[in-house]
Amino acid sequence: MKILTPKKIGCCFGVNRAVKLTEDTLRSRPQAYINGELVHNDVITKKLSEKGLTEIKSIGQIKGGTLIIRAHGISPDERARVEEKKIEIVDATCPIVRQAQVSAKKLEEEGYQVLIVGDSSHAEIKGILGHLKNDALVVANYREVDPAKLKSRVGMIFQTTHSIELCRDVVAEVMKVAHEIKIVNTICADIRKRQEDAVRLAKKADLMIVVGSHHSSNTIKLKKLCLKYNGNTIQIEGAKDLDPRKYRNAKSVGIIGGASTPDILIEEVRKKLKTPRKA
Ligand code: SF4
Repeated sequence: MKILTPKKIGCCFGVNRAVKLTEDTLRSRPQAYINGELVHNDVITKKLSEKGLTEIKSIGQIKGGTLIIRAHGISPDERARVEEKKIEIVDATCPIVRQAQVSAKKLEEEGYQVLIVGDSSHAEIKGILGHLKNDALVVANYREVDPAKLKSRVGMIFQTTHSIELCRDVVAEVMKVAHEIKIVNTICADIRKRQEDAVRLAKKADLMIVVGSHHSSNTIKLKKLCLKYNGNTIQIEGAKDLDPRKYRNAKSVGIIGGASTPDILIEEVRKKLKTPRKA
């Protein structure tokens, strides 16, 4: 069995940075909290919780200590609420997400109707919306574009982890209505590369395995993308979910991980596939 993986595997720069900032914080702060998961990966979440990180559902739950802002960022209003309570902030917002927040704000200041392509329930989108004075449109795909709601000048940004193909379709749909469109391509370079690698491997492999959490938005998108090019695609969280006997006839297996999937998990999957076993 031939195993195909991209040259670079493991977590993206933003996730590694957020994890390092958190670990550094936990070394010196007895009370460190996070508003939701730092990143969408159960292995990382468990490791940080064992080191003392406490997950909270809302800022109201804490009265002191340190709050770590996760890689997806938060809105200025939320930040102000934390500062009012004199809670120390350690900001692990990914700089690329931060750039998307700044771009959305700038488009609004330039008089564009802001349209964000992404998942409206995702923390990153909520954080970006919180940086705007007016309501912005959020659509996940071209079918959600309502021509009646579009103005003549539209400024578009994308969720940093959104699918390039979905964004392209939305741009084409908006072009049917808007007179002027300004696009800031806020899709993260790491995600673009992962999506390219996913398509390349899915086209070549007999079986495609996407490794990552079932609640990781970018991993789910990688799975959907792979399925488009290879119907024999599965998503697993790690080697524990894999029964290699089912796939023993596959001559080539492609493996790709989401942006918050540690390289060790990919390595374990690779090893399990390679381990000889009885039928
Ligand atoms: S995927 Fe990109 S935007 Fe998201 S945390 Fe990683 S580097 Fe930052």
